[in-house]
Amino acid sequence: MYDLVIKGGTVVTATSASLSTGVSTFTVDIGINRETIAAIGQNLSGKQTLDATGKLVTPGAVDMHVHLQMPIGNFTSTDGFYSGSRAAAFGGTTTIIDFVETQAAETMVEAIAARRALADPNVVIDYGLHMTIGPGDITKLDQVPEAYAEGCTSFKLYMAYGLRLRDDELLRALTAVRDVSGIPVVHAENWDVITELIRQNLAAGHTSPHWHPRSRPALLEAEAAGRVIDIASFVGVPLHIFHVSCGEAAARIAQARQQGLPVTGETCPQYLFLTQDVYDAPGVDGTLPVCSPPIRDHAAQTALWQALSRNDLQIVTTDHCPFTIEEKATGLGNYSQIPGGVPSIEMRFAALYSQGVRQGLLSLPQWVTQCCTNPAKLMGLAKKGEITVGYDADLVIFDPEATKTITPETLHEAAGWTPYNGLTLQGWPQTTLCRGNVVVHDGKFVGEKGYGRFLHRTHANL
Ligand code: MN
Ligand code: MN
Repeated sequence: MYDLVIKGGTVVTATSASLSTGVSTFTVDIGINRETIAAIGQNLSGKQTLDATGKLVTPGAVDMHVHLQMPIGNFTSTDGFYSGSRAAAFGGTTTIIDFVETQAAETMVEAIAARRALADPNVVIDYGLHMTIGPGDITKLDQVPEAYAEGCTSFKLYMAYGLRLRDDELLRALTAVRDVSGIPVVHAENWDVITELIRQNLAAGHTSPHWHPRSRPALLEAEAAGRVIDIASFVGVPLHIFHVSCGEAAARIAQARQQGLPVTGETCPQYLFLTQDVYDAPGVDGTLPVCSPPIRDHAAQTALWQALSRNDLQIVTTDHCPFTIEEKATGLGNYSQIPGGVPSIEMRFAALYSQGVRQGLLSLPQWVTQCCTNPAKLMGLAKKGEITVGYDADLVIFDPEATKTITPETLHEAAGWTPYNGLTLQGWPQTTLCRGNVVVHDGKFVGEKGYGRFLHRTHANL
């Protein structure tokens, strides 16, 4: 007699993709004791049951790239740890990885404690933190082992913005991450070229968001990705490239992997579902989808779907980082001043099913692999991302026949707008469980503020 049994669902796993039978799904019961998957089999009985007949049962989705209440300039991203983690749970996500940056006078361990003090009382699902190594942290690289020991085993390196590292600093940071067996995660763009193109465009009176993608060329995103891949290869450290927005950058990752290098890459819904004409919308509407790398043309979108289909990209994240309409509007008249980022934290998992699996672009196991299993493995989440006895009972009962039209009102994100307004998805989570506890059921939040745990992660295993 288990505490809880999920009965009769069609279980979708990543590992089933490799079965020689070619079977990608199977109908089975899942027995849960307390927080853990205790049994997978037929005719299990429980003190409580959830009927999953006709539904898919997947691992809880893992979103390894989110920015909740992220301070950027004068603004802070709109979703806090409560609203953001709650919206994630509505969409079937049970683990998120956010970020921590150090203040000048702060150690990495102090910064982690300060960030946890914001998150711990508020998260409704489990979370981890990437430790950011900015230019001010190059003198703190001796603290990398302490950050790792605190459970922050991935390290964010920027090649753009004020946090940008020069190549010599990248070399030093990558070496420090290598020495603790950590995993670097990188924003790869060519900042010198971007800065000059913005200067030229503004000087020519080109101030509208139309010029945003035209200031951040795909070829130079690929150049930056290739450059950091080469530096990481020289250093001898694995590497993950964040938010790949174009086929050119995906090709650099594929090429490195063909050479046997431990390089991975991710893309995000904004690049899979939108094209750059969104920046031509009049007035403030054109400012809303500003994010970096930018949303690109239809050919880029097609290339990204192909890269996921071929497993040339291995992971889908969101880079969720919304700002309000009022905050976005401050960049009217100078597109380079628009606070960057879009909200996708709630729709990612269902959207990849609806527009990926149902359209024949991804298989069911690929969907689960890219949204759940691969990010858990890469992020050193030892008990997440798979439906296996002994793993955390992070599970989604997913209704493949439910339809959901995305609007600000049907989502639970705080931004008050969504770039996917009017998009109708087929398939949506009915029930989300985090460590055996139901967090969302039938469109109702039944979780608890502060239930989520900070995850002390181990080394990458992908
Ligand atoms: Mn970024
Ligand atoms: Mn980001």
